[in-house]
Amino acid sequence: MKTQNWLIKQAELNPHRIAVSDGQISYDFATLLEKIKVDASHLVNLTAQERVGLMTRNNIQGYRLALALISIGKTIVWLNWRLSTQELRLQVDDSDLDLVIVDDVLMREDFDHRYQSFTNVLKRPSAKANLIAEFNFDKVASIMYTSGTTGRPKGVLQTFGNHYTSAIASSLNLGLVENEEWLCVTPLFHISGFSILMRGLVYGMTVRLMTHFEPQAVENVLVTEPVTIISAVPYMLKRMLAQRRQSKRTYNNHFRLILLGGGTIDLATLKACQNAKLQVVQCYGMTETCSQVIALSAKDAEEQIGSVGKPLFTTQLKIMPKTNEIAIKTPALTPGYLNQPQKFATKFKDGWFLTGDVGHLNEAGFLFIAGRKDEMIISGGENIFPQEVEAVLQQYPGVEEVAVVGKPDSIWGQTPVAFVVGNVDPEGLIRFGREQLAHYKVPKEIYGVKQLPRNASGKLQRFKLQAKFKK
Ligand code: ATP
Ligand code: MG
Repeated sequence: MKTQNWLIKQAELNPHRIAVSDGQISYDFATLLEKIKVDASHLVNLTAQERVGLMTRNNIQGYRLALALISIGKTIVWLNWRLSTQELRLQVDDSDLDLVIVDDVLMREDFDHRYQSFTNVLKRPSAKANLIAEFNFDKVASIMYTSGTTGRPKGVLQTFGNHYTSAIASSLNLGLVENEEWLCVTPLFHISGFSILMRGLVYGMTVRLMTHFEPQAVENVLVTEPVTIISAVPYMLKRMLAQRRQSKRTYNNHFRLILLGGGTIDLATLKACQNAKLQVVQCYGMTETCSQVIALSAKDAEEQIGSVGKPLFTTQLKIMPKTNEIAIKTPALTPGYLNQPQKFATKFKDGWFLTGDVGHLNEAGFLFIAGRKDEMIISGGENIFPQEVEAVLQQYPGVEEVAVVGKPDSIWGQTPVAFVVGNVDPEGLIRFGREQLAHYKVPKEIYGVKQLPRNASGKLQRFKLQAKFKK
């Protein structure tokens, strides 16, 4: 299947609608197309390779270069600028890149010749570039490396067909309002960010870019600009809520909802959002599924609080017998991991993609996530999902953040222990846990820490805490 290049299409359908803004500069779709033609003319002769690395913050120039790359038929390899140079090298080698285009502020002394700054690239003599007229659904538009908890990084291939399916499925669920404007503060190199950019092109919608998450700055945008939707991960939502409590400001009249995904959220936070009249729509997805594949709808969000919703129109869902692993089928599913076909093949059972997450459906067919199979703690033969324990401990006064992991134990195999940020009495916290949870689930030890390890998109890196107990 093919469609017209989405950018060219929107320049025809909605030439005067704002495509992208950073709060200062904004381009309508017609202007954006002209800018992309200019950027493309600098890029076109830079490399014969189909894959080109891109390392940028969420800014207009990075956004333009991303569109210019796909518009001349390249595949973007999104690189996470928080990684060390050595970690980046693994991904750059795996993708066999000879060119990585880097936001000037992100250039490093120890980068080799393959890394070129935006300024350098845009200084190159220009040559006429023909933008591709059509997007082929089988063509790989982007490659994204997953957070990569262990082992070799997995480069997830994302086709135009994957992105298209994902964008359409989201709009069938959330609807699309006139002058929709989506705030993109999750990183573009993560699917939660890049999928906003792709939706922008498919819907003819405004994408409002923000370079990084800072609660006050985000609130300011949500109050003063006509943003309708923001994507957030749990840690952002909590900080947005705290900020709102403090400032007592309400968001602009057009604001519709917070699309929340990427990790487990506690009920207390969701209820606090309800009380504050903040519409939160939970969703579930992964890099491999090109963002959300399961989501609540606004109408069900209140009644099914805590659930991540029902499979979207393009998704089929199955809970595997015995293991309760979540399995899905969807045209948004990646065609594979770069260079690792065997690894990808192990993720299927009878044609269903095994997500590695465990969950259950309630009677009304709504999905609840228990946690990741590989993070499950087995203590004396009992299964413990850290998320369930964290959600309870989170409610204890003084707990700002908490993470539970399994500590090796000679009798029980593993016992749960907790890392806590905040001013907390450990014994009180354990007593509180025992009032609400089966005793085997209650952490045996509490470690006070200043902060929890998180990756660039704010995700808890539980494996880093776990590693403290490895000998
Ligand atoms: P890696 O596969 O390398 O370990 P990752 O799985 O953390 O990395 P992503 O693809 O960004 O990388 O994250 C997808 C995962 O995030 C899901 O498999 C699930 O574990 C978790 N997740 C996503 N949404 C939710 C949600 N709403 N509730 C709980 N967990 C979620
Ligand atoms: Mg994963």
